Amino acid sequence: MKAQRYQQTISRRTTLTGYGFWSGLDVTVEFRPAPCGHGVVFIRRDLPGMPVIPATVDHLAHGPRRTTLSRNGTAVDMVEHILAALTGLKIDNCQVWVDRAEMPGFDGSSLPFAQVLSQVGIVRQTQLRSRLTVDQVYQVGDENSWVRAEPNPSGTCELTYLLSYPDEPAIGEQTFGAQLETVDFLKDVAPARTFVTRAEAESLRQQGLGRRVNYHDILVFENAGPINNQLRFVDECARHKLLDMIGDFALAGCDLVGKFTAYRSGHRLNGELVRQLKNRFTVQAEHRKTA
Ligand SMILES: [Zn+2]
Repeated sequence: MKAQRYQQTISRRTTLTGYGFWSGLDVTVEFRPAPCGHGVVFIRRDLPGMPVIPATVDHLAHGPRRTTLSRNGTAVDMVEHILAALTGLKIDNCQVWVDRAEMPGFDGSSLPFAQVLSQVGIVRQTQLRSRLTVDQVYQVGDENSWVRAEPNPSGTCELTYLLSYPDEPAIGEQTFGAQLETVDFLKDVAPARTFVTRAEAESLRQQGLGRRVNYHDILVFENAGPINNQLRFVDECARHKLLDMIGDFALAGCDLVGKFTAYRSGHRLNGELVRQLKNRFTVQAEHRKTA
């Protein structure tokens, strides 16, 4: 088993502005440093009393195709790419001040968030990060889509995403895996963008969603490949699904040790796995300091 690492935060505040893919509304996100044990919280500065919504599985709400957190009737939406950036860069304590419910979409990846966070600098704190070690096989979902957690003798967090779009030849079958502790998140995961099929894009438009988004903003696949766009990786779709998985697993609020494999899963199943793990295991928080 690897030694626990120290908690981390950012060195100072940093802000970025964009618009929500679904709502089309402008939103400003400000990341602020936070003390040990604080975790990641969203703060709705646009609402009376500035309600706080902790980024934990206890506040996970069900929304289609995205991760929504809700507490006492106040929500933040499309948080997964922010959470993936924080987790991928191992930033454990952070306040995320926002002035809308829906987080900015940018290019559909985590890169804009990861870039500003890494630019301000990440600082080590004085307490160890707690962690949850998977000690038996656990699986949620059915034969069509599932997520599995199993023990990992190497003591690391290994993630694999198995993507299968048999009806979309430009996507097809893809697999991407990474070890969270060692992956170059900024280079190999953060830039991977979200994607939809042309049929999905048209259906969303008909529901009045995504009016501000064009083909250049997000990857829309037709049989010949992405429309008016170039892939950043040949397996960009699988990489994005892994990015989503990292964001959803952030809701554990601690490091995870185990082997995690997902087959065609999405936010709902990822969240369900985290919920089951949290219910089942007690986080072993070690307060002793190790060199
Ligand atoms: Zn995503």
